[in-house]
Amino acid sequence: MMSKQPTSFNPPTDRQSLLDQCKPIILYLEQHFGCKGTGEPYEIQLEKGRQLYKQYYDTLRPVPLSRCPYCGQINAFPMDIEGIDGLWWCYADKRPALDGSQLCSHFLTLLGAMKLHYPLHHSELQVEAGPEVPFVVPKLIESEFVQATVSSVPVGKNTAYPIFYYSEVKPDLRFIYDRSWEGTLCYLHPLDAPNPEEGLKMPPMWGSEYYMRLDEKTKMLLAAEGIPYEGDFDLAPWIQTGKLWWISSEDESLELHNTVDDCPYLNLPGIRATQYIVDGTNRYHEGREALYSNDGKIWMTEEEFDSSQT
Ligand SMILES: [Zn+2]
Repeated sequence: MMSKQPTSFNPPTDRQSLLDQCKPIILYLEQHFGCKGTGEPYEIQLEKGRQLYKQYYDTLRPVPLSRCPYCGQINAFPMDIEGIDGLWWCYADKRPALDGSQLCSHFLTLLGAMKLHYPLHHSELQVEAGPEVPFVVPKLIESEFVQATVSSVPVGKNTAYPIFYYSEVKPDLRFIYDRSWEGTLCYLHPLDAPNPEEGLKMPPMWGSEYYMRLDEKTKMLLAAEGIPYEGDFDLAPWIQTGKLWWISSEDESLELHNTVDDCPYLNLPGIRATQYIVDGTNRYHEGREALYSNDGKIWMTEEEFDSSQT
């Protein structure tokens, strides 16, 4: 009902104020989700949260991060590079439709890695930063129609590695209800396959558990389910076979390179599994070899963590 909405509420326009106001509401909504008797206070918080959320995403601007290997266009993706405390990095959050107008029609997806800076930027939300070093997904890049680029960009004090995937043919992406997953997945459909389910299931996008498909008509990025795949951290063979291109950090012209000898992204030290930041202070990664405190030192081994949970 309209009378329940905070009509006089004007969301702030600067990032920090938006996050400061939005996060307590998100946590309140999570705590009270599905509870009976929350009534009007819940509705008011929900509407206020919606407005703050929309305002936050409206403030994000496309960041030029890649160049398409097929058509040469510079591609810019709307993301939060101020810090990983932004809602964009909230792992479980289904992002709203985003502006994809500065992406060429070959754009397929954006994955990424991040060398975290310690102490970690505090965030109450669960963040998925990707592995610590760049990687490719063989399932995607080995397709004869797919190539990728790797570059780097600061995200707050962290060093992030965006990995853009492009498809030579106009990506034919279909949403199909997948019984094994019990959800609607997005498939990259091979043009010669009669059965769409023979297509490749798309992985979640960087920082999220959802994939985002570029809608050709509206040029909007729309969320869908995604399933994770194994990564390959040995980049040199993919560069040598012409599948992966690299872009120097701080190169505003985003020139594509395909040489191995001077590639700055090869054999970097770091964790080769997804890093999750939980409660703003600790992180773990797939395989849970250890949890780290926010100074970057090992806080608990996997065994210690497991025994603390029982
Ligand atoms: Zn292109």
